[in-house]
Amino acid sequence: MTSEGRAAAAVLWAVSAAALAAAAAALIAFYPPPSTFASLYPPQNLHVRPGRFAGPVCNGVQCRLCPYDCFLPEGARGLCKVRGNYGGRIKTLVYAQAAAVHVDPIEKKPVYHMYPGSLIYSLAAPGCNLSCKGCQNWEISQLYPEQAPRRVPVPSALEVRFRPDGSAYGELRSVEADSLPPEDIVRYALATRCKAVAYTYSEPTVFYEYMYDTALLARKAGLKNVMVSAGYINPEPLAELLPLMDVVKIDLKGFNEKFYRDYTGGGLAPVKRTLLGLKKNGVLTEVVNLVVPGLNDSGADLAALASWVKENLGAETPLFFSRFTPNYLINELPPTPLATLEKARAIALGRGLKFVYAGNVPGSDGENTYCPKCGRVLIRRYGFAVLEDRLTPTGGRCPWDGTKIPGIWK
Ligand code: SF4
Repeated sequence: MTSEGRAAAAVLWAVSAAALAAAAAALIAFYPPPSTFASLYPPQNLHVRPGRFAGPVCNGVQCRLCPYDCFLPEGARGLCKVRGNYGGRIKTLVYAQAAAVHVDPIEKKPVYHMYPGSLIYSLAAPGCNLSCKGCQNWEISQLYPEQAPRRVPVPSALEVRFRPDGSAYGELRSVEADSLPPEDIVRYALATRCKAVAYTYSEPTVFYEYMYDTALLARKAGLKNVMVSAGYINPEPLAELLPLMDVVKIDLKGFNEKFYRDYTGGGLAPVKRTLLGLKKNGVLTEVVNLVVPGLNDSGADLAALASWVKENLGAETPLFFSRFTPNYLINELPPTPLATLEKARAIALGRGLKFVYAGNVPGSDGENTYCPKCGRVLIRRYGFAVLEDRLTPTGGRCPWDGTKIPGIWK
């Protein structure tokens, strides 16, 4: 071999070795070796509980909670980072591990067709099965559970106080907790005068067991349940969960497969299947689309999305187009121009949808609910505030012409 040949072979060898090392590092990041896993999650760990929707396969288990259907050898975690094969069984690693807990206006979810102006007890555990490049909650959703803060502030009571002029205001009390079991969530939701519990911020599918147990207790206590999700879940777990859910808000990220793959790491088809499942089960469904400039805002995509929602979910399905602000891995794009949201809204209204909203744009006409028959404002909003509500007193009917508006109003 010539000296040039030897040099080329050496370079090739070095490049191959570097590529192998990088691949091994990536593999270890996704599938930590059993010793690491076991030391992070000793049996007495508060948050490790048996997981559901998984079965044994050759040399491991297969999780069937979401469309990834991860194969997990002993000690491995799934793509969501929060479920793993621990001793030959699937475990959730985030049971009762709240990473964020807040009392929010229901408009912040955004849910517009249930109890306008009410408070909703909102919580998230770490983890997500998608990896959206512009995730607006990436500090929670993209966490490994061991990276989450050990203790978080948890709203525990809302006390009514009075100003010297006699007007009332609410004062929120909090406690610090390293574990927030379902019974505490329900107790605190009632004590903070919330009417519902929301499983939100990150992806509730991946903390399924925690959400399910909480929703069961919340329902018994007279609270409503709201799941805010990307809809990336398999049909069987969805079907078991739906009887407990009053509203499901689906974040439909876009309307072409390539965008879904590139931007979220997932796929569009399973999300459509989830939406059809919600329709079939009669669950009140609201759909939101985060409009990202230059990525999912073409007229063709927006029109296809609106037409699909109308034809498959019905003209009365509330549809939101929300403003994107630069976040996580997408910092070079501007916030969505208001004109783009107005264009999206016009397209959807033109396709025959009756309740089309613009989100994250306080002061826009697109925040209001209008009667589809007479065109009058039924609920006037500004940001998360409800300025005027004509629907709650009438139980969801337009006071001028009696048109029934879909939703939960009493
Ligand atoms: S829930 Fe997690 S572990 Fe289960 S299939 Fe989905 S990504 Fe994989």
